[in-house]
Amino acid sequence: MAEPVQKIPFFYPSFSREEEEAAIRILRSGWLTTGNETLLFEKEFARFVDSPHALAVNSASSGLILAMDAFGVGPGKSIVTTPYTFISTATAARHLGAEVRYADIEDTSYNIDPAAIETVLAQHPEACAVVPVHIAGNVCRMDEIHDICSFYGKKHGHYIAVIEDAAHAFPANTDKGYAGTLADAGVFSFYATKTITSGEGGMICVRDAEKAKRMSIMRSHGIDRPVWDRYTAEKASWIYDVVDEGWKFNLPDILSAIGRVQLSKARSFFDKRLRIVQRYNDAFSGNDALLLPPDSPGNAWHLYLLRIVPEALDLNRDGIARELQERGIGISLHFIPHFEMTWYKQRYGSNSNRFPHAERQYERTISIPLWPDMSDGQITRVIDTVLDCIERHRK
Ligand SMILES: *Cc1c(COP(=O)(O)O)cnc(C)c1O
Repeated sequence: MAEPVQKIPFFYPSFSREEEEAAIRILRSGWLTTGNETLLFEKEFARFVDSPHALAVNSASSGLILAMDAFGVGPGKSIVTTPYTFISTATAARHLGAEVRYADIEDTSYNIDPAAIETVLAQHPEACAVVPVHIAGNVCRMDEIHDICSFYGKKHGHYIAVIEDAAHAFPANTDKGYAGTLADAGVFSFYATKTITSGEGGMICVRDAEKAKRMSIMRSHGIDRPVWDRYTAEKASWIYDVVDEGWKFNLPDILSAIGRVQLSKARSFFDKRLRIVQRYNDAFSGNDALLLPPDSPGNAWHLYLLRIVPEALDLNRDGIARELQERGIGISLHFIPHFEMTWYKQRYGSNSNRFPHAERQYERTISIPLWPDMSDGQITRVIDTVLDCIERHRK
């Protein structure tokens, strides 16, 4: 038996002394919950992506709920999104009592198909928000999505908001600005495997000041005064009012402190990921059993979605994925479409054939390691293992 080789994890976060020192500084400050550090994180994030308002939240899932709530998603209303996303894009709407209408992805990318949005909006006048997801950091066709929403908004006599699920898309910089600031609101994630991480966390960017105010109140139990204001302002701290039924979705200072350091490294993380992507692309292009990930200007390259060509191989995606995993390459699946989930089947029935493109991409996709501090040796090993696995199973 050969020596077991060290496994290459699917993701490994890049932290240094700076993140450690930031966390210790907060522990020693005596103020652990949302306070000045979070205000600074919001300011710095807003400046980075050039957004008028940024609100830190404890997860993107919470942020999606707040953003949808602010744009009227609730009982009797619906959102339009794709089945090819993390589950919370849809469950955020369900938590608000709204329905989810699904539109298929494009055949060539993993992103929502504007033509499919059109079909859904034509049939569902109650839809009040469209939620495009920039899968892997590859930015959706935002201009077309805006045009369609404004057309059907006029036709149905109410505003149709566009809320970007930008959980993968920091920092995706297009000629129209950063993803997450290209619509009414955008929601970012700082979950452990995302492009920058505070362990858990998220950020909402929103254009309208009133909507920002609503989200800020609903983020904190519907209380009209932020907690740091209650404890630092002149007016007695015990005076506050509750103006609606809110949630507890605030981001604590200890995580904001880590997030601020990560934010300062976001560009260098991106450059490092891009270098790895270029090595992968060079190695895999021209191989007729593999397809490179979809790409368009501004791509944040959060994930490397390698696509196999099933017709060229004697093993399916699950088989290839298992073999890579067994040979020490950490892999993941992005995404298991909603229609594969029990929750979805119980609510909507088993109708995956309604989404042929999502089904097709799912059957051919494997996410391979893409994290900033991968060594040249690790990148080479991923490439060699993938190519060897493909050659062994070529028909
Ligand atoms: C990670 C992710 C989320 C949820 O992010 P959390 O911060 O973990 O709540 C939402 N949408 C997409 C597309 C994601 O990948």
